[in-house]
Amino acid sequence: MRFDKSLQCALLNAPSVVFAAPQSASYPTNGTAPAAFSSKCEELASKLHIDGGVVTTAEFVAAGTNLTVPVYDETCAAAPPVITADMCRVALNVSTSERSGFRMEAFLPANWTGRFLSGGNGGLNGCISYDDLAYAVGLGFAAVGTNNGHDGTSGLPFYNNSDVVEDFAYRALHTGVVVGKQITEDFYGKPHDKSYYLGCSTGGRQGMKSAQDFPEDFDGIVAGAPAFAFNNLTSWSGHFYTLTGPANSSSAFVPQSKWVQIHADVLKQCDKLDNLEDGILEAPLLCQYDPSGLACAEGSNTTTCLTPEQLETVKGVYSPLLNDAGDLVYPRLQPGAEVIAAGAIINGQPFPYTTDWFRYAIYNDPNWDPATLSSKDYDYAAKLNLFGIESFKGDLSGMKDRGAKVLHWHGGADFVISSDNSARYYEHVTSTMGLSSEELDEFYRYFLVSGTGHCGGGEGAHAIGQGVGEVNGYETSHNVLMALVDWVENGNAPETLIGTKFVNDTVALGVEFERAHCKFPKVNQYKGGNPDVIESWECVDA
Ligand code: CA
Repeated sequence: MRFDKSLQCALLNAPSVVFAAPQSASYPTNGTAPAAFSSKCEELASKLHIDGGVVTTAEFVAAGTNLTVPVYDETCAAAPPVITADMCRVALNVSTSERSGFRMEAFLPANWTGRFLSGGNGGLNGCISYDDLAYAVGLGFAAVGTNNGHDGTSGLPFYNNSDVVEDFAYRALHTGVVVGKQITEDFYGKPHDKSYYLGCSTGGRQGMKSAQDFPEDFDGIVAGAPAFAFNNLTSWSGHFYTLTGPANSSSAFVPQSKWVQIHADVLKQCDKLDNLEDGILEAPLLCQYDPSGLACAEGSNTTTCLTPEQLETVKGVYSPLLNDAGDLVYPRLQPGAEVIAAGAIINGQPFPYTTDWFRYAIYNDPNWDPATLSSKDYDYAAKLNLFGIESFKGDLSGMKDRGAKVLHWHGGADFVISSDNSARYYEHVTSTMGLSSEELDEFYRYFLVSGTGHCGGGEGAHAIGQGVGEVNGYETSHNVLMALVDWVENGNAPETLIGTKFVNDTVALGVEFERAHCKFPKVNQYKGGNPDVIESWECVDA
């Protein structure tokens, strides 16, 4: 999650609302917590008995602290999270086999709401999401997170160690939840009331994996931009390099300047599908973009048009990836994200996570060449499906049957993971469970958050309270996590998620516009009036 210091300051000064945060503690929050809380925390180090677990740290942390967190791998280094609630910080190592294990932290607030939360991870890492823990503890959750079984963002630790892969696929998260709930109960002397999950990207996949295979773990799950259909997604991410060839030396490569032109052409064809030309596609799924108009005329200068080879590349980017048998591997990149994607998945370089996954998890061959990725690799990885990492089962009856809730969201301009795939999952659940949208509404809702990049950022109203740096309030209407809490605990299910675009993405500069993102399959349509206010829009059938 993006870290934004100015937003953190605003967060500390946020007014109290329905689910107020930071919590007003029952004693001054200037670091003068009662000695009892502090000593109870420090006693945990010797009192906790976790199977296979070793507690390394148990310390009191005062509200307002810029927490210096341990750096186990330089690739995990991040700005120190600001702690907004007095809390007890517990760090431990937990083994999962003779040759694997994970690091874990628990942030236990002095002013506990009775809620438990686990965060997730990102990419192929390897890094505890301290920002998410800090965010959740500030909202009164007892929050836990793990490093997902290895340190760092590289896939190298998977090499010849399937136990590390198993931790990454599901085991570190699930075990961390079991252990985290025990720590919570030991510390507070009573079990948690409700259990939650918050994650995006790989964290979104982990949330969906939990919903599918470990429905007892959480009463409510926020799964953002899920990296599910993981094997196929990884093939898709890697196939762009085989499509474009190397940057600047391949005739099929399309430079970023041309993607800027393509973006303008996308907007020309699709921006007004939602009734307003504002540079944002409310329903990228409905945009059937055709780049043919940008083809170079015969004999023309090719610097501002697409050569035949480049046109094929662009068509490939906006076409679903199929294997040689003609079966779908993964949907197209949704139109609208191309300019940023030009610096990410279509930058003419091998996609590092794909390279690492195939080298160290699939083939255990450090010399595997990402330029050779082809249909046989897509098929092999999908069939192998290590430890069920695909995470794309359409049966959510485990959640449904126990009254648990899944809140799924995806940025409509995601430049790494296509939001078309989230719509595909929604349809997959519909057909697998044989339920209508109205019936799914009881336990599973999906929201397309327009104009939003990968897990946040973008030109749209992207702040929905998904984490540090993306906080637009704590009201259930504006905060995706608090909306989930209200759904789980009070039965108030979200109809929309109100997102906010701050001027220059800076809270202190005020709101530029807001938009109430619609519950799929409905789409946002401009009605008229001031487009910056949500009342000028309505959710309609696509
Ligand atoms: Ca528009």
